[in-house]
Amino acid sequence: MLLFTPGPTPTPESIRQSMATPTLHHRTPEFESIFAQARLGLKVMLGMPEVLMLASSGTGAMEAALTQLCKSKLLSISCGKFGQRWGKIAQAHAIPHTEIAREWDTPVSAQEILEALRADESIDTIALQVCESAGGLRLDVESIAREAKALNRDIIIIADAITAMGVEPIDTTHIDALIGGSQKACMLPPGMSIIGLSQMALGRIERSAPWRAGLYFSFAQELKNQRKNTTAWTAPTTLIIGLVRYFEIIQALADSPLESALLTPSAPLDEKRLEQGFQAAYAHTKALALATREALAALSLSLYPKSPALAMSAIAHAESASIRKAMKGFGVNVAAGQDHIKDSIFRINHMGLIQAYEASFVINALELSLAKLNLRSFDGRGGAVFLRAFYGIEKGA
Ligand SMILES: *Cc1c(COP(=O)(O)O)cnc(C)c1O
Repeated sequence: MLLFTPGPTPTPESIRQSMATPTLHHRTPEFESIFAQARLGLKVMLGMPEVLMLASSGTGAMEAALTQLCKSKLLSISCGKFGQRWGKIAQAHAIPHTEIAREWDTPVSAQEILEALRADESIDTIALQVCESAGGLRLDVESIAREAKALNRDIIIIADAITAMGVEPIDTTHIDALIGGSQKACMLPPGMSIIGLSQMALGRIERSAPWRAGLYFSFAQELKNQRKNTTAWTAPTTLIIGLVRYFEIIQALADSPLESALLTPSAPLDEKRLEQGFQAAYAHTKALALATREALAALSLSLYPKSPALAMSAIAHAESASIRKAMKGFGVNVAAGQDHIKDSIFRINHMGLIQAYEASFVINALELSLAKLNLRSFDGRGGAVFLRAFYGIEKGA
């Protein structure tokens, strides 16, 4: 079965192999050098001055960032299930909180956020998603962060980039905490979260006593350790080894096609090549997502969100549940929606390094399913449109 859900994503063979070595002790020079490589890779991927790895799923990092960076009042942006989570975290920790909520296909604009900031000067933190996975929606986080800082230079911006990190370039200039998780574009098993921190966030962490950090998620404690290539508590060693392998593959994309990059021999990370590799990975993901969308349009299917992210394509369709079930019969697993849009959308993943032969078969399986359900007669059009778009084959050629 092809796993095409927007997280978890499949783990490539060579990453699985890298993690199959005997368990290393985390307090050894051998693991410290692996940890240093992981830190280097993360700094290149996030473009931020400091990074942390925590043994938790993504939500753990969301909670850690919120409890440690928000001092007086949180403004959370909710355009879906993950945006709602900020409010739940604030409630759990009794953090004063206000929310701007929208239907899950609709992004919140910078203008609306500025109005909320002007109306309540006690707001010192904004938390939002780069890509809201509930509806595959991209928020213009970069502009929101820039404009919010122009209004109040001390405001903290926490961005959940769990389905954007490693998918597309994110301008982190005005973002203070950028959150990721192992199981999305990094193609690792679940269990590790990633946090990028700005100078301003570092200042808040280092100058102040941690407000509500607790013990386990203390950024101050982790910073002290991780800057020395170790962790406060037992590190998720296996996942960190896998992360370094992911960076090796990305780096190899700088000068090799995907097929051979996946098999590249282990090599020390080089910042320049890694940057070039990420550009290639982003271009690949974008090409796959755009070719998929051309094919969807050719099958008369439309996207659910008003501003679609590149991480996934969420398709609005009244027969979503039957389509998903039929696709499983053709060996493809795509995701349903959640909550009130559970059966009115289905979501095709584009995160991770997906081969064109897999992505094109997803379109074939979708077209076959539409035919099986008597929604459209089969003519192979979806596959043809996908391949023409992805490989740039002109009409008539
Ligand atoms: C997957 C995901 C999360 C993380 O959820 P966990 O289950 O805690 O890993 C958070 N935000 C978004 C937008 C996601 O897609």
